[in-house]
Order: sequence, then structure tokens, then C-alpha cells
Amino acid sequence: MARVFKRLLGVDYAVIESVDLVEERGEEMIIAAVRPVRCRRSRCSRCERRCAGYDGGDGRRRWRTLDLGTVKAYVEADAPRVRCPQHGVVVAAVPWARPGARSTYVFEDTCTWLAAHAAFTVIAALLRVSWRTVAAIVTRVVADLAGKTDQLAGLRRIGIDEIAHRRGHRYLTVVVDHDTGRLVWAGSGRDSATVRKFFDALGAEGSALLTHVSADGAEWIHIAVRERAPQAVLGLDPFHIVAWATKALDEVRRGLWNELRGSGRKDQAATLKGSRWALVKNPEDLNIDQRTTLAGIAKDNKALYRAYLLKEQLRMVFAAKGEEGKQLLAGWLAWAKRSRLPGFVKLARTIEKYRPLIWNTLDHAMSNARVEATNTHLRVLTRRAYGFHSPEAMIAMAMLTRGGLCPELPGRTA
Ligand SMILES: [Zn+2]
Repeated sequence: MARVFKRLLGVDYAVIESVDLVEERGEEMIIAAVRPVRCRRSRCSRCERRCAGYDGGDGRRRWRTLDLGTVKAYVEADAPRVRCPQHGVVVAAVPWARPGARSTYVFEDTCTWLAAHAAFTVIAALLRVSWRTVAAIVTRVVADLAGKTDQLAGLRRIGIDEIAHRRGHRYLTVVVDHDTGRLVWAGSGRDSATVRKFFDALGAEGSALLTHVSADGAEWIHIAVRERAPQAVLGLDPFHIVAWATKALDEVRRGLWNELRGSGRKDQAATLKGSRWALVKNPEDLNIDQRTTLAGIAKDNKALYRAYLLKEQLRMVFAAKGEEGKQLLAGWLAWAKRSRLPGFVKLARTIEKYRPLIWNTLDHAMSNARVEATNTHLRVLTRRAYGFHSPEAMIAMAMLTRGGLCPELPGRTA
């Protein structure tokens, strides 16, 4: 019987003393009284070293574990403190839960696996926990997994990017491995100091191995990269540059829309309002309606169509790459400068400024599809995990879903 409950409750290296069905505050629950097996008793929760006992701590403690059928279940045990020569007086380690956790390994791993795969509302309802608890669990589990592998080993080509969260009030700096597409590092903030923290973690040896670094136009990234990995070729991520052009195109469209509305041409203004996707999507992805919209713009709104062609041509620069890309870029710059579209004239100046970095991108055929995919994923994640207020929880969610730090579902591996 004890053996069955050990399996059901997900507690290894423990002795089951009793299992009871109780009712507390109108809720039925199963409480399993347990204690660690002898060889797992009296160990430091930080280093697992066997230590002298200190005191009884705060007495009995409960850890939530997976429901047994439909009933909530808890593991209950003493939580004595020990005195570790290295870590001082700490609560003794228990074999069924992480230090500081109020739920068992199996509960936390299940919760974290779900956080990577399901909506938070589903997790909260299924496991009967708050979002805050989900955030705390994910943070602890990801930190635990991150401590067991070297995320930064063998990096050669990386992309450094920034992601806004909490509706643009906070930022994360993220580092993606171009070769695997994996998010390898994330830190709170967007400044050179944050990028330097990444290089500190990578170490001088690891930094010296970097061959290529891509980024957006942020000088604070460039400064830290030139300082810590001067041998690496620094390039601009094409998707950021195309995004600048899309922004300039949007400005032209909005300006024209306001103009049409102001002069009472409501019909034309309404048509234009629905045109954004026709202008922003890649031409090969347009549907019939969008193609018609685009043809209409070509006929009636020459300025807007010029802006559209400029955006598309800039995209072609990065599709071409190499010498051909450089020639196209030179042609693009000349065209944009005399386009009489203020947004594009300004963009031409910006691109002129970054020309050496863009040439690096073209020369080294730095493909950034994976950095872009990660960027897109993280943008969606910041909305989905909006309740994750602390940067630590947000970083944990990012590393969980893009960094490969996802636990296995308990009991599934042989
Ligand atoms: Zn210790």
C-alpha cells in the first residue's frame, strides 16, 4: 500500500507514515504524512551535504502534489533546519521538492510543462493555482534546469535583440543562437550594462569564439559587442531594417488617410484604411482582394505606391545579399533620398549611417530567420504572460519556451 501511494504522490526516497482523507475549510484533501529515508535526512538544501541538525524550524510543512483523481493532495512532513558549514542555518533538503518550493517536483514539473503548452487560464483552472503561483513555479523550475546545463557553450553566431514587456514599460535584452535558433540568454534592461552581463556570463574565452553578431540599430548593443568581442563581424538584422521601412510606409499611408478625410473624400479614405495588409504583406502572400487593392493604389495614390515599392525594394536587397545586394542598396538609397517622402528620406539617412554594418550583413549572408522567429514568439509571449509582472518570471517564460528549458512530464520517461 505504501509503495502504491509513493508512486501516486510522486515521492521518492520517502517513507509514507500515513495517508488520510480530511476536510479543511470545506475542502476535501488527501494528506500524506511522510519523512525522508534515512540517507536523505539532514542534508543542506543548497549543496546536499550532510550536516548537523540545528532545530525544528517552523514545524510541520505541506507541499502540494498532483491531485489523486479528483481530490487535492498534499505531502506533509517536518521541516527541520540544519547547519551547513558553507551555507549556514538552512531548512533541510527534502527529496520530493525543490528548496523553497511549496509543491512537489511532480507538481512543479507538470505546471511548468503546461505553461509551455497551454493557456494560463487553463493551467490555473486545472491545477487550482493562481497565476502568481504559476509564475513562481516556472521561475524556480527554469532556474533549476538552467543550472544543470551550459546554455552558452559553443556559441559562434548570435543575434542580440530587445523585447518590450509590461506594455512597453520594461525591456528584456535577449540573445539568440543563429545556428540553433535557441534563446540562450535573457536579461532585464536595455543598455550596454545589460549586454556586458551576457558577455560576463559567456566569459572571455567564449566571447573570443564569437564570429558573427547581429543586432538592430541600437548603439548600446554595438558598443558592448565591440568592447567584448571585437573580432566578431557585427551586422544589422535585416528584419529590423525592413520593419523600419514598413513603419515609414505606415506613416505615408496615415498621412494620406488624414488628408483624404480632411478634404471630405470619405470613400477613398475608407478604402485606404483597409489597405494596410495589402501594403505590408510580402507580395507573394497577397490574396486576390489585396492584389486588387494594391493595383488601385498604384493607379490613384502614386506617393503611397512609391512608398510601397521602396519598402519592397529594400526587402529585395536582403534577399539578394552579396555584391548584388550592395548594388541594389546603392540604388535604393538614391531613390529614397529623392522620393519626396519625408519618412523615407529620413530612413535613407539612417541606412547611410549604418551602411558598413549592413554591408557586413550582406557580405556574410547573415540569415536572421531564427532571430526573427524568436522575436515574434517573444512578442506574443509578452502579451500572453502579461500577468507575469517580474522580469525574472518573464525571462523564465522566455527560456522555457524558446531556450529548451522545459521539463519532461513526470512519469513519462522510462
Ligand atoms: Zn550547504
